[in-house]
Amino acid sequence: MEIPFAESYKIKMVETIRRSIREEREQWIKEAKYNLFNLKSDQVFIDLLTDSGTGAMSDKQWSAMMVGDESYAGARSYYILKKAIKDIFGFEYFLPTHQGRAAENVLFSVLVKSGDVVPGNSHFDTTKGHIEFRKAKAIDCTIDEAYDTTNQHQFKGNIDCEKLENVLKNNPKEKVSFIVLTLTNNTAGGQPVSMQNIKEVSALAKQYDVPLLFDSARFAENAYFIKTREAGYENKSIKEIVLEMYEYADYATMSSKKDAIVNMGGFIGFKDQETYRQASTYNIMFEGYITYGGMSGRDMNALAQGLDEGTEFDYLETRIKQVAYLGHKLIDFGIPVQQPIGGHAVFVDAKKMLPNIPKEEYIAQTLGVELYIEAGIRGVEVGTLLADRDPETRENRYPELEMLRLAIPRRTYTNNHMDVIAAALKNVLDRRDKLTSGYKIVWEAPIMRHFTVEFEKI
Ligand SMILES: *Cc1c(COP(=O)(O)O)cnc(C)c1O
Repeated sequence: MEIPFAESYKIKMVETIRRSIREEREQWIKEAKYNLFNLKSDQVFIDLLTDSGTGAMSDKQWSAMMVGDESYAGARSYYILKKAIKDIFGFEYFLPTHQGRAAENVLFSVLVKSGDVVPGNSHFDTTKGHIEFRKAKAIDCTIDEAYDTTNQHQFKGNIDCEKLENVLKNNPKEKVSFIVLTLTNNTAGGQPVSMQNIKEVSALAKQYDVPLLFDSARFAENAYFIKTREAGYENKSIKEIVLEMYEYADYATMSSKKDAIVNMGGFIGFKDQETYRQASTYNIMFEGYITYGGMSGRDMNALAQGLDEGTEFDYLETRIKQVAYLGHKLIDFGIPVQQPIGGHAVFVDAKKMLPNIPKEEYIAQTLGVELYIEAGIRGVEVGTLLADRDPETRENRYPELEMLRLAIPRRTYTNNHMDVIAAALKNVLDRRDKLTSGYKIVWEAPIMRHFTVEFEKI
């Protein structure tokens, strides 16, 4: 008999979560103005809102926290983290920040000017926010295959080099702040970028003399997919692949809350000293002194340890196989999901799942509310709400894909929880004929509205 796959860790500490009843959930979601962000976490049974900062730290990370050095300047913890970043990514210079968007804020203060363009692959919401806030434009150059959820392309996060070259041809290089490669491509479904694509994008960046930035939140999951899907990498370790990937990056912004498996933290990596120096001033203004930048010494210790664990193959295999387990269970139940299954989340194709809801009534949001009411599971909309309004016309931007993202926290839930999620979605699927109307917005913020938007049921 073949020995089945099992997790590469065992559990040492647990946290109680509570089931609720449907009537309670109907009341709570109404009070939350039908925005899942407004729910109290105690009102949620299985929380798939995000995999950001929600993972379980290891015994080694917790023990590293006990020996953090909290000195203001030159802390030992800073040098431990500096060494980890050099060893794993090869960056000579780095700045700690309190999370990923803070890294964007600091670095973009140096690199992005009003009127610039920033081509990339499905810019993350805060990345786009920080670009548009500076009156620059994010141009999405993701390959078209990413928008067909049944297309089995192995690297749906890739940039379409023809689209990218068009942007580079039609803009003087002073107007291109940088090219951003999001690894993995979160918005397109946690889909990876191939090493081949990284090389091609880097060649274009060099040809047109513009810098290349890696938005690195899930760099290790991306490396896992390169190892398991791209010819020539099967015998390389994750750490070797990561080092090779980052040979092509000029800068990196990192949300350590993802693949570095900490609850809070981030950093910027630099190859050149000049940009590092300029960014240091902004870091001091926005984040903190350059040797802590918004992080405690103990948090820098946990982050350094997390970078090491997060780039171990056994850990990544456990993680990505759990996400795939949920994804394939949903496929077996006939639920339309983005395929192949991504690294950190399963993305449900809401347009296909709830065909009777008009797009003006926020299809994926409606699905998210229904899943919550069904079993206390909280996902998040990746669709019209997230795409926000066009900054000029203020009209809704209707993206090609309307998705409900079920992000799986690292080392947190068991496959029994995955079974609950799958059954709950199947129940929603079975009553989809009765779901014919969605929601209307009664209040929204001018930018990044999805966090705080309020709805009324139609
Ligand atoms: C989470 C994330 C960010 C922002 O990081 P925060 O730590 O949430 O501020 C940026 N880019 C990508 C791809 C992300 O997933």
